[in-house]
Order: sequence, then C-alpha cells, then structure tokens
Amino acid sequence: MAAKDLPILVVGGGIGGLAAALALARKGRAVHVLEQAATFAEVGAGIQLGPNVFKMFDYLGLTEAIDQTAVYPENLVMRDALSGEELIRVPVGSAAFRARFKFPYGVIHRADIHGAFLDACRKSPLVKLSASQKVLGYEDKGDRVVVNIEGGAAQEGELLVGADGLWSQVRAQLVGDGKPRVSGHIAYRAVIPTPQVPEHLRQNNVVLWGGPKTHLVHYPLRRGEVYNLVVVFHSSRYEEGWDTYGDPEELHERFKGQRPEVLEYLAMVNAWKMWVLCDREPIKGWSKGRVVLLGDAAHPMLQYLAQGACMATEDAVVLANKLEAAKGDYATAFQTYEQERYLRTARVQLTARFYGEVYHATGVKRDLRNSLLKNASPEGAINGADWLYSGVAV
Ligand SMILES: Cc1cc2nc3c(=O)[nH]c(=O)nc-3n(C[C@H](O)[C@H](O)[C@H](O)COP(=O)(O)OP(=O)(O)OC[C@H]3O[C@@H](n4cnc5c(N)ncnc54)[C@H](O)[C@@H]3O)c2cc1C
Repeated sequence: MAAKDLPILVVGGGIGGLAAALALARKGRAVHVLEQAATFAEVGAGIQLGPNVFKMFDYLGLTEAIDQTAVYPENLVMRDALSGEELIRVPVGSAAFRARFKFPYGVIHRADIHGAFLDACRKSPLVKLSASQKVLGYEDKGDRVVVNIEGGAAQEGELLVGADGLWSQVRAQLVGDGKPRVSGHIAYRAVIPTPQVPEHLRQNNVVLWGGPKTHLVHYPLRRGEVYNLVVVFHSSRYEEGWDTYGDPEELHERFKGQRPEVLEYLAMVNAWKMWVLCDREPIKGWSKGRVVLLGDAAHPMLQYLAQGACMATEDAVVLANKLEAAKGDYATAFQTYEQERYLRTARVQLTARFYGEVYHATGVKRDLRNSLLKNASPEGAINGADWLYSGVAV
C-alpha cells in the first residue's frame, strides 16, 4: 500500500490521543488509535477545564456532549488551610468572565470528557480504535512508519503520533531523555456521592486550601451528583503508576493541625487513589522523521495549573491544522506545530511548578503569599491568566 493510503497511527487512547484522532478525522485523515489497556477508559477523578479548552471543544463539535456532564463553578477560591482566611475569590462563573474569554470555566469527571471524545471517535468512519495494543517501539522506514506491538504484531502508518502519556515509549525512542522527574508531591483523589457531603461543606466553587507542604481542592462534579476531592502533600514515598491505593494514616499525619473543614473533608473518604506526581523539563525536538509527540508525552506537567488535558487537546487541534495546511509536507507541519506549541506548553510546565510552591508555602513565604493574594484584585488575577485562557487561534 502506498504510504499516503496508510492511516496515521496514534499511540495512546487517553484524552490527547483521542483528541488527535478526532481532530485529524475532521480533516479527512484516516487514523488508527493503538491503546495498551484492554478497554478505552479513563481512571481518576475530576479535572478542571479552562475556557481555552472549551474553545477547542467548540471547534471539534463537542460542546453539547461536554455540557451534559460538566459543572460550571461560580468561583475559584483560595483559602489558608491553617487560619481559614479567604485569600482570593475569582468569579469564573460571572458574565464578565464569559464575555471576556467567550467560553466558560468548567469541571468534569475524567471519564466523562474521555467518554465524549470516545463517542465522537466511534461515530467517525475514519477512526479505528484498537485496545490491548501495547506499542513496544517503532521503525521509521522513510516512506512509512511501522510500530511493533507486544505479542509480535506490527502496524504500518503514514505518520505516528506518540500520545502515550507521561511514561511514553515513543518519547523514550524519539528523545531518549530517561524517566520523568519525580516531584516528591503525592496526590490522593476521591469522588464521593454528594449526599455523603454534609450540607455546610457543599458549594459550587472550586476551593483550594493551601497548607504547609499540602493542599486540598474540592468541587462538585457530574451535574453536582458527586463531589471531587484532591489532596496533595510532599512525601519521599515513591511508587509509579496511577492505580494505587493511598495510605489514610500518612494523609492525616500530613494535614494535622489544619482547619476543621479540611479535616472533615479528609474524614469523608476511606479509599483514596494515589498518584505520584511527575513532570519534565520543557524541551524542543518533538518530532523526528514521521514521528511526533503530543500531550504528556511531549510536555508532562504538574497539575497545579489544571491544564495538562487542556494542553493535550490544544496540541491535537493545532497538529491537525498544521498537517492540513502543509498539504502532505509533514516535516513542515511538525515543525510549525512545535513552533506554535513549545513556548506555551513550557510556560504552563514552569508556571505549574511555581504554583505548587505558592500553594504549599510555609513561614515567610506563606505570609508573603497571603499578603499578596489578599491585596490582589480578582480582575488582576483574570488579567494575569489572559495568556492562558484566551487560548490559541484555530
Ligand atoms: C492529580 C492530577 C490532576 C490533574 N488535573 C488536571 C486538571 O484539572 N485539568 C487538566 O487539564 N489536566 C489535569 N491533569 C493532567 C491530565 O490528566 C493529563 O495531562 C492528561 O491526561 C494527559 O493526556 P495524555 O493523553 O497526553 O496522556 P494520558 O492520559 O496519560 O494517556 C496516555 C494513554 O496512552 C496509553 N499508553 C501508554 N503507553 C502505551 C503504549 N506503549 N502502547 C499503547 N498505549 C500506551 C495509556 O494507557 C493511556 O491511555 C491532572 C493530572 C493529575 C495527575
């Protein structure tokens, strides 16, 4: 088969991989997504979605599907976890916020956003989805690319998009820069039915309680039916993987002395899922020959700006647009894609690290944080996020 008649292979069926498949299919490209898991599904809890990714949903025709389960919080609120003081309240649900960015700020269950992408991919005759396909490596043959799959099978494609996440095999071969950086920060997450949350603790806001080397975030999810809790703390404990249970004892030790509300939230959950948070230094060189990286495979970041899935979705749209514009000149498309994405994603990677320091500040740093935030205006905070929330041109 001539290379131009082969599909574009996408390794990884997470949010980034499915967004890439959908964006490419909408440009008329046949895509084959290879996912290592036995089913296309997402684990995890809630994620926040900036207006910049709603712009992408609009472009991809997903607004209605997302709207069925998303919650639109009224405010982002930050409080000091020791004193309880409110440090800042940003009205992301206000008419002024929507008017400024044209799109809302939302929160959604990871399974729901993944499900919306999956449904759209399934409806497209151009997208083929194959589960239980663990990619071990690839060979760039010059006129095509071949991926080798565990068990001995192989797949041929015109191009290869590595959307295989933080521990990307494609990146290991393309960039070869070793394992991700373990941040020393651990996240525990849980989703609980809203009726289990005492009424005085329920609110339609994303609330972050910043404590010494810890923070807690809570918000409602799925039309308000469930509540999302995320706690983060510093720990030398290290385990790879997304699917491990946390240790409630360690958690209660780390949050000792914090506000009663914080402790009440912690007490609601028996079974926490644990994530070891990692990122990497930003790099250039996301492509080589017929292979290109996208999402966490290209620019893994800490979640403190709540933008990893948003960036992966933006990547997908930009990549598909560049491939269309380049009319078969994939090398130019990959170059212009990286050129348009690398500074924006690097800024998110580095700013996320800084935000982690702010959330977890102790001593004088905490005093300074509280003093600056209490004197900051919500408008100033929104202005400061303009570079991020205004999104990319499509
Ligand atoms: C605690 C936490 C909170 C977060 N909160 C937010 C938030 O509020 N907002 C936000 O936008 N982002 C958030 N993120 C980040 C976001 O989850 C990720 O950035 C996003 O999921 C990355 O998507 P991806 O498709 O690039 O990678 P992944 O979601 O990791 O998907 C990669 C896929 O590739 C598959 N795969 C891996 N290796 C292979 C292989 N060899 N062969 C075949 N398949 C393979 C995997 O099974 C997986 O399905 C958060 C992350 C964490 C950890």
